[in-house]
Amino acid sequence: MSYPVKSYAAQSPTGPLGLFQFDRRSPRADDVVIDILYCGVCHSDVHNVRNDWGNAKYPMVPGHEIVGRVLEVGPEVTRFKAGDRVGVGCMVESCRHCGACGKGWEQYCENGATYTYNGTDPVDGTRTQGGYSEKVVVAEHFVLKVPDALDLAGAAPLLCAGITTYSPLRHWNVVPGSKVGIVGLGGLGHMGLKLAKAMGAEVTLFSRSPGKEADARRLGADHIVISTDPAQMAAVAGRFDLIIDTVPYKHDVNPYVPTLASGGTIVMVGYLGPLEDFNTGPLVFSRKGLAGSLIGGIAETQEMLDFCGQHGIHSDIEVIRIQDINESYERMLRSDVKYRFVIDMASLRQEVAA
Ligand code: NAP
Ligand code: ZN
Ligand code: ZN
Repeated sequence: MSYPVKSYAAQSPTGPLGLFQFDRRSPRADDVVIDILYCGVCHSDVHNVRNDWGNAKYPMVPGHEIVGRVLEVGPEVTRFKAGDRVGVGCMVESCRHCGACGKGWEQYCENGATYTYNGTDPVDGTRTQGGYSEKVVVAEHFVLKVPDALDLAGAAPLLCAGITTYSPLRHWNVVPGSKVGIVGLGGLGHMGLKLAKAMGAEVTLFSRSPGKEADARRLGADHIVISTDPAQMAAVAGRFDLIIDTVPYKHDVNPYVPTLASGGTIVMVGYLGPLEDFNTGPLVFSRKGLAGSLIGGIAETQEMLDFCGQHGIHSDIEVIRIQDINESYERMLRSDVKYRFVIDMASLRQEVAA
């Protein structure tokens, strides 16, 4: 039996998202069928819908910060049962046998991970569709347990914004006393502040926006640097072990390099594309690094959720109705979000009923 579901989809890069019906596949033996309760709104949803990355296919149902409850499971599923609180992030499949998958780095699968939406199911060749919908059917391996200590709506953004900042903090060995900088206070940035602080780091926010100072301190920043002020940038020269840059658009990364300590690394998680005029000299002379990082593996995502459960870490959210999604995209583009929109999927079910 397949599952007809209502959703919100984009039909083109320029039009609004609107109501769309399609069928979720019949569950395979290792599949979990999930009733979606909340879905976070990531800036990547806007990039994908508007074809910023050149690979968009329509209709496209975005959404990869999914939380809900298990409705039913296939006969081979061992870790989940009906009623469990679960999450799904940016991936729903990978080859599971390459070197990267073997290390638990499914996001770097050498045969290509299957993304939660705008991807192609490797078994049946259908398009994957995301979490702005009533239900999703996902292989058990890619389903996460949401700890009981976490509120479901506030946990949704952990599935992308949380893991995308947690993974580089762990990979670059942030420990108590590490000096961490986060560039940009949006969805990823606010999770970066909270997670780095909980790991015991001394945390600095780099922001273009002076008005965010009080929020940044509440979220975990010990210091705030206005990145457009050369004097403030000079005052933190040589400080950081790790900087995570979440800015979604092309920008000058050179001014951040002098703020790294020798051996420090800037990790790009936002902008994807060429950096013209990036000067490698200051990297070479102080063994500094410029790196990138993509979400995190499945085991690491579970570790992050458990860490958040232990430390009481949620995203700061504004719950919206799905009917307000187009306006929410415009607000996100104006940085008018504190600090993640989360769709209450009850609004979609009510629209269906009406
Ligand atoms: P967001 O909520 O819109 O936050 C981005 C923040 O960047 C803004 O709040 C703003 O902070 C700053 N910013 C925005 N435009 C800027 C500009 N033109 N110049 C300088 N700063 C600017 O976005 P998000 O959801 O956190 O996502 C951030 C980026 O990460 C997106 O590109 C998204 O696609 C990407 N992403 C990557 C991964 C991955 O695995 N690598 C995962 C998820 C998302 P201030 O006002 O404080 O300066
Ligand atoms: Zn995302
Ligand atoms: Zn693989």
